[in-house]
Amino acid sequence: MELRHHGTAVSPGVAIGPALVLDTEGVRITHRTVPPGQIPDEILRLRKALADAAAKARETRQRLNIQLGPALGNIIGAHESVFEDHALRTNIEALIRAQSYSAEYAVSRVIRDYVKRLEDAAQKVPEHSRAEVRRRAAEFVDLERQVLVRLLGEHSEPLGRLTEPVVVLATDLMPSDTADFSSRTVHAFATESGGNTSHTAILAGALEIPAVVGLGRFLTDVSGGDTVIVDGGEGVLIIDPDPGTVAKYEEKRAAERSRADRYESLRDKPAVTEDGKATVRLLGNIELAQEAGHCLDRGAEGVGLYRTEFLYLNKTADPTEAEHYEAYKSVVQTLGPDRPLVIRTLDLGADKFSGATGAVGAEKNPFLGLRSVRLCLRNLDLFKTQLRAILRAAALGDVRVMFPMISTADELRQCKTLLNEVKEDLEEEGIPFKPDLPVGTMIEVPSAALMADVLAREVDFFSVGTNDLIQYTLAADRNNENVADLYTPADPAVLRLIKRVVEAARKEQVEVNVCGEMSGEPLYIPLLVGLGLRQLSATPRKVPEIKRVIRKLRVDEAEDLAGRALELETARQVGSLLRDHLRRILPEAAD
Ligand code: PEP
Ligand code: MG
Repeated sequence: MELRHHGTAVSPGVAIGPALVLDTEGVRITHRTVPPGQIPDEILRLRKALADAAAKARETRQRLNIQLGPALGNIIGAHESVFEDHALRTNIEALIRAQSYSAEYAVSRVIRDYVKRLEDAAQKVPEHSRAEVRRRAAEFVDLERQVLVRLLGEHSEPLGRLTEPVVVLATDLMPSDTADFSSRTVHAFATESGGNTSHTAILAGALEIPAVVGLGRFLTDVSGGDTVIVDGGEGVLIIDPDPGTVAKYEEKRAAERSRADRYESLRDKPAVTEDGKATVRLLGNIELAQEAGHCLDRGAEGVGLYRTEFLYLNKTADPTEAEHYEAYKSVVQTLGPDRPLVIRTLDLGADKFSGATGAVGAEKNPFLGLRSVRLCLRNLDLFKTQLRAILRAAALGDVRVMFPMISTADELRQCKTLLNEVKEDLEEEGIPFKPDLPVGTMIEVPSAALMADVLAREVDFFSVGTNDLIQYTLAADRNNENVADLYTPADPAVLRLIKRVVEAARKEQVEVNVCGEMSGEPLYIPLLVGLGLRQLSATPRKVPEIKRVIRKLRVDEAEDLAGRALELETARQVGSLLRDHLRRILPEAAD
């Protein structure tokens, strides 16, 4: 029967296909059914896998009994008896015989059904026994994995080598897992945890793979090979869809393709308002050098944010100066010498590759800890290596440097001092670089927004990072679905801070850009233009849509809208004001 789960939509698009269910160790099921003649072999494989798993549990129990005493050893002994349980084996074998299921698919179905029943039971038992029932359910997930590992053996392939198209389902995915995905084989993914600005989500957008995160628990409802639908625009995952649902989503998928073709025609048109009074410079946000091409394909005028920490993906050592330089050079070559490229220095820590070299050990509050520029200022070699590469790449085109997570003027001054030291080193070494490289700072900490008038005197440009600015202003974790209702760009506190930053920038005549996810959402475009922004940077895929909204705007109306929004008291009121306006100027974008 069809099952629907709702989560956070992070990368749009519809995909329909067989599920590939990943547990934490990436075990996956390759075949759902087998030819009828193979059924006896499947039963033998199952029995052997159960017997091997039981033997391993027995051996571990005996070893632990000696090492730690029988009390602890017997916990593993319980696993042994499950693997030998007659009813479990009979249930799995019955599915193999009746449905021609592969042994691994049948194991997954039966054990996941047990887990589901235990989890349902946990809701109903008295509070004091709930944790125990949940622990039992988790134990079964582990038991499933132990049998699957034995059944799959060499069949459990790494994700990078997938050959058949799949929809990946997992508890969570690390950015490094996502980076291995190719849109050719991974048609979508859906995870139980995560929020829309988690880096896994951002990378999904970058790779243009439909994705939904923060779905809550659903993995017990699905087995590898089941047909699933992911709607990355609506934030929906549908397991075992009815034929009618499949038909509906196939239609939606076709409509999306034709919309993409329509956007194509906007690529070379200017981002100018309908009344001709304002032109907005639209730039792209990239994580990987190869995305620079996506920016141009979508009609962006350059790169407004290059998140260089993604150079750390799948790396055990810090990138060398040459690796930094090659990545930047390749982006400049794609963009050409005259299009801007804003390179942001390493924003490591918190949710971004916190285990990377140079990072500190586990912190209790990593988002408030030694992340980003704070980490760089404590690891000067790491920082200087990158600054050298940026200064050198700047000799090739319109490169600018930007510092993330600046909280105080002192911090910014330290970064600039270091940049000057690096320039002196390059000068002495006779290495070509750009001495008058424009310097900017992200405004993504409320203290920086409040001190924008002071910071404006130190830099050539600002870029407002709304992803972090919202999280720090509202004290709401950007990746935590439990506080997702607080986490919104429509909050009046956020609007007041942006207004302040724009005014400070105007006064000192420094450029100001918005590069958080807010600037990729059509809903906020009239407001941002009304607040005075004439530069926006967003995921390349969003650029045509934003351009379409801008081309429908009148500056006086946008300014009036911003003025009215700033007088409101709640995010809900702001949201409804913005929706009404967008519905009026571009009904299609408001849906
Ligand atoms: C932001 O915080 O808005 C931003 C653009 O930076 P990141 O999402 O990489 O933290
Ligand atoms: Mg940020």
